[in-house]
Amino acid sequence: LPEEADVVVIGAGGAGFAAAITAANEGKSVVLMDKMGVFGGDTALSGGEMAVPGNWIQVTQGIEDSPENLVSDMLVGGDNKGDPELVAIIANGALDSANWLTYEGGVSWKHDLMQFGGHNIKRSIIPITHSGSEMTTKLTNRVNGMDDIVLIDNTKAVELVTDDAGAVTGVKVENPVTGDTSEVKCKAVVLATGGFGSNVDMRVKYNPEMDDKILSTDSVAAQGDGIVMAEKIGADTIDMEYIQTYPVCDPETGALLYVGDVRLENHGILVNREGDRFVQELDRRDVISNGIKNQTDGVAFLLFDQAAVDETGLLKQHADEYENSEARGVIVKGDTLEDVAKAQGVDAAELQKTVEKWNQYCADGKDPDFGYSAEMNVIGDGPYYLMACKPAVHYTMGGLHITPEAEVLTVEGTPIAGLYAAGEVAGHKMGTNRLGSCSMTDIYTFGRIAGKNAADYAA
Ligand code: ADP
Repeated sequence: LPEEADVVVIGAGGAGFAAAITAANEGKSVVLMDKMGVFGGDTALSGGEMAVPGNWIQVTQGIEDSPENLVSDMLVGGDNKGDPELVAIIANGALDSANWLTYEGGVSWKHDLMQFGGHNIKRSIIPITHSGSEMTTKLTNRVNGMDDIVLIDNTKAVELVTDDAGAVTGVKVENPVTGDTSEVKCKAVVLATGGFGSNVDMRVKYNPEMDDKILSTDSVAAQGDGIVMAEKIGADTIDMEYIQTYPVCDPETGALLYVGDVRLENHGILVNREGDRFVQELDRRDVISNGIKNQTDGVAFLLFDQAAVDETGLLKQHADEYENSEARGVIVKGDTLEDVAKAQGVDAAELQKTVEKWNQYCADGKDPDFGYSAEMNVIGDGPYYLMACKPAVHYTMGGLHITPEAEVLTVEGTPIAGLYAAGEVAGHKMGTNRLGSCSMTDIYTFGRIAGKNAADYAA
């Protein structure tokens, strides 16, 4: 670990990589540290889908979209509690960030789009492996090829050092394995430490409903370290009570069930133990999560057919997840609806009726019960799949209060000299509810802004 650098970036997830590479490309020396023994954070665990209005696939498919359109969806989807200025920066920066990932990062993409709940149009591009690890692996390679960046694991930032005027001048770090401590002096710091979804005490402090009965999709690293460190030197936080649960998660582990993404490719229906639908499958994450919470045992079941599997390729793409969840009976496969219903303890006769009704709605082209909002696909021939799911904490909308330049504000509302924040650690962009695939757009856009401004500040 060097004793000094122009810019220290804390956290090697998507935001941290973007900030570090950008600062190095501005000619600065950079230390990019992560407390874990692996890089990538929650970015690597995510599906990596990215909302990009005006992307090349939309152009090819003749889908007309605009940044303004995304701004509107994001604001409405967060109950108009997000900061319109920050949201506009994310939406306007989306295409540049996607191109940056392609050309600077070497990221490859699938030739198809996804449409997440709350988006009025298909606009989300998908990494070729359908995982955020496609991004973080490629960005790790990129960084390893850059002389100006020292990338270091097992290095946990524990304190921000300031001078008499309150400007940030260094970072105290600790090796979580050996306990060794040291300090890196620097001219600017970018906090890219992610959210606090795995920190139950912190969750409950801001939102008592998010207690230890709710599991989390997040990495154990999502402890809110950056928020706590910055608060100690006077930083302001915002929207901390807005904590998002993702509806389709493993009831035993909390892991996000990516095979369940058949739903986002317009396949499958969500039913309860009684075998009935209870929500629009493409509704907002908070709406579906609350819907599931109110069902018997707080659990739901996603039913889909073999055609869904064949058309989406998701079972192959997430074969490890499928094997694991099948072995534990979280997902069951069977030749008949009765087979899968019985295996999951769902009312088989009612499920049969629900499927018949759904297929009739598909033929009619409309869903009078819940207003399914996209192209409707029948539940056809078997084999069938029935996946149990529960909501789990996924994303913390709140965090450090930042300016459009990614500067961290004090409680008094003035920027802390030399301190920048990007990614999930920074709040007030997603309002009460983040729409799917908007985090990637955010972290790479604000990561690059933070990296550029930290580099300029360090000049
Ligand atoms: P984002 O999506 O905002 O980029 P991620 O969750 O992908 O956030 O990445 C955050 C990264 O920050 C993780 O890899 C995590 O291990 C790292 N991290 C969190 N706290 C610290 C800390 N105190 N010191 C160093 N790294 C940290």
